[in-house]
This record gives sequence, C-alpha cells and structure tokens, in this order.
Amino acid sequence: MIVDFFNNMAKRIVLFSETAPISNEGKTRLQHYVIFLMLGVPTMTLFSLYSFYKGNTTLALVILPPAIALLAGIFVIRSLKDGTWVYRINAIAYMSLLIYMIMIGGDGGSKALWSYTWPLISCFLLGYIEGSLWSILLLSITLIAYNSPISQLIERYDYPPDFQLRFLITYSICAALASWFEYSRAYYRQESNQKNLSLDLEHRKLKKEIATRKALQEQLVITAKTDSLTGILNRGAFWERAEQEWDKHQHLADTISFAILDIDHFKKINDTYGHPAGDEVIRQVVNNTLSCIRTVDIIGRIGGEEFAIIMLRTASEDATKIANRICSAVSQQETRYQQDSIKCTVSCGLYSTDNEQHSLDSIYQKADQLLYLAKKTGRNQVVTEKESDLIT
Ligand code: GH3
Ligand code: MG
Ligand code: MG
Repeated sequence: MIVDFFNNMAKRIVLFSETAPISNEGKTRLQHYVIFLMLGVPTMTLFSLYSFYKGNTTLALVILPPAIALLAGIFVIRSLKDGTWVYRINAIAYMSLLIYMIMIGGDGGSKALWSYTWPLISCFLLGYIEGSLWSILLLSITLIAYNSPISQLIERYDYPPDFQLRFLITYSICAALASWFEYSRAYYRQESNQKNLSLDLEHRKLKKEIATRKALQEQLVITAKTDSLTGILNRGAFWERAEQEWDKHQHLADTISFAILDIDHFKKINDTYGHPAGDEVIRQVVNNTLSCIRTVDIIGRIGGEEFAIIMLRTASEDATKIANRICSAVSQQETRYQQDSIKCTVSCGLYSTDNEQHSLDSIYQKADQLLYLAKKTGRNQVVTEKESDLIT
C-alpha cells in the first residue's frame, strides 16, 4: 500500500514537471529525480529539525539549502526540455553538504557514512560517466581538504587510519556498483528502445502492406464487376445487384420498372465501319443512357450491344418517359470515328409491375418479349405492356 501510494505520488510529480517535450532518457532521469526528491526532502527536513533540537544549529541550517534546491528544481524542470543543469546544481548542493558532514564527522565519524548515497544519486541523475566523475570528485575534494595545509586551519574530524581505509574501500565498491548498475540500465534501455523502434517500423510496414492489399482487393472486386468497355456493371454483377434490390423491393411492394435496350442493326454498323468503330458507338450509347437515368437506377451490360435498366419505385409513366428520353438521345447521337460519322438507334422493351408474385426472371422475360415487339414493329421505339396490348 505504501509502495502504491509512493508510486502514485511519483507519477503525479513526473506528470506535473513534464510540461516541456522530453526524451525517453530524460524521462527516466526525471523519474529518478522525483524518487530522490520524495526520499530526500523529508529525510533532510527531519535531520535538520533533529540537529536543531540537538543544538547543532549550523548543521541544521547547512542541511536546508540542498533540500530547498531539490524541491525548487521540480518547478524549474517544468519549463526545460532537459533537466541536466538542475541535476548538476542539486549535485553541487548535496555534495557540499556531504563534504561538510565528512569534515565534522559526528559520533565516531558516522556522518561520513552518508557519502555512500552519493555514487548512486550522481549516477542515477547524470548517467554512469558523469556520475562516476562526481563520485571521484567527492573523494578527491575530501582527500585534498584533509591533506592541504589550509585544512590545518579549519576544525575537522580526525578519522582513525583503519576507518579511513574501510571507508575508502566501501565507498569505491559503492561507486563501482552504482556505475555498473546505471550502465546496464542505460544499455538495456537503449537495446529495448532499438527493438521497439524496429518493431514499430515492421508494424508500420505491415500496416502499409495490408492497406495496399486491401485497396488491390477492392480494386479487383470492382474490376471483376465492371464491364471494361463501358464502365457500367457487367452481366454477372448486374444480376447480383438486381437480386439484392429485388429482395428488398418485394417487402416494400413498390412499382419496379425493367427496361432492356438493344442497339438496332448493330451488325451493319460493325460490318460498315469495323469493330473498333462499333465499340465506340456502344460506349457513346451508354454515356447517353447514363445522362438520361438517375443515379439510383441500376444499369448493366447484359449482352454485346444489349443493356438492362432497373428503375426501383418508378411507375410505368415515369419509366416510359425515361426510356423515351434515352431513345431520343441515342437517335440524335453522332459517333465520330476516324473520318466517319455514325448514327444509330436503340429499341427498348419496358415492363413495370407492382405485382409481388413475379420473380425477377419473369419480369426480365416480359421486358425481353416487349423488346422483341419493339424490334418487330419498327425499332427506335419504346414498347410497354400497354402498347403491346394495342399491337397484338
Ligand atoms: P437488331 O436490330 O435485331 O438487334 O440487329 P443487330 O444487328 O443488332 O443484331 P444482333 O443484336 O444479333 O447483333 C449483335 C451484334 O453485336 C453481333 C456482334 O458481332 C456484335 N457485338 C457484340 N458485342 C460486341 C462488342 O463488344 N463490340 C462490337 N463492336 N460489336 C459487338
Ligand atoms: Mg441489336
Ligand atoms: Mg442484341
């Protein structure tokens, strides 16, 4: 529970101080700083109060600046991208305190033992290289301070030689361990970052590949359904779509109109102007037809020069108007192919029904019979059931 509380607090402080964009390594250093802050500030404050209580006012006051620096640092880091200088200033403040404690020694030189915290703190805040240098610096300053002639002038604790040796050995072990620990942490961190990076790259590549394949698949589906000459639905796709709409239509019981268009004497066009010219005529007939129907209407090429149109929710009168418009538009069309100008007409069989009993196939048969009538009775015209009654 205490650990959870500690973790939560640490996370909140990290979030608070992380307003500036920060690198991953910078984030780790900030997390370390926050841990030192949470441990250091209460410890130093208590230590200061205790010293004050014990009558050691100087020590009580000397402890306060590093504690204040630690606390103030977190507010300064908020406006920085990189907290290194804040860590360095804190390092100087804390190291000065340690030097002072080594100098005064305390009971049996016990205050010098606080120095063992130094290699760990310096390495965790400033990395294993700079941290090791700070560890050596503390030792060097202490040695110089003890051996320089000026040191004779200041009051300092006299450590017994065996204490000095033990301190030197244990401090060196602490420094070596802290450097090694921080080195391996940074190394594994870098390694896992690289792995993450390559995984991320792989992931992006895969995502791109999937998107390309999906687009290709969609394109394939469209191609498989499209008539390559005219761009409208091919026979199979038209019937598939027609069945779907027919299923929906049956429940609605609306009027449905089915038209079949066939270019008149198309063989003759092919024979006179050639097959490519015939292709151009087909394309233009489709374009003209598309300009007469609505976007909701379903159109498909169901034969060489034969097209079917399904007009949903369209009564016979409206469908007849549309079909006549197509016939008239095509009859006015002039297809330019090389030096030739080709004219053509279409015939149309149109069947409209709201009878739910019909099958789509029977509707198609009816429209086809009406188309046959349109061909038989002169071409270039629309024949509906009403007219077929008059004809027959
Ligand atoms: P009708 O008025 O009775 O329909 O006479 P028609 O000459 O149009 O007769 P039919 O419908 O039987 O002829 C269709 C011709 O269309 C036969 C075929 O060679 C031709 N055709 C079919 N598909 C294509 C195509 O993709 N391009 C071209 N240029 N001609 C095609
Ligand atoms: Mg024809
Ligand atoms: Mg035909």
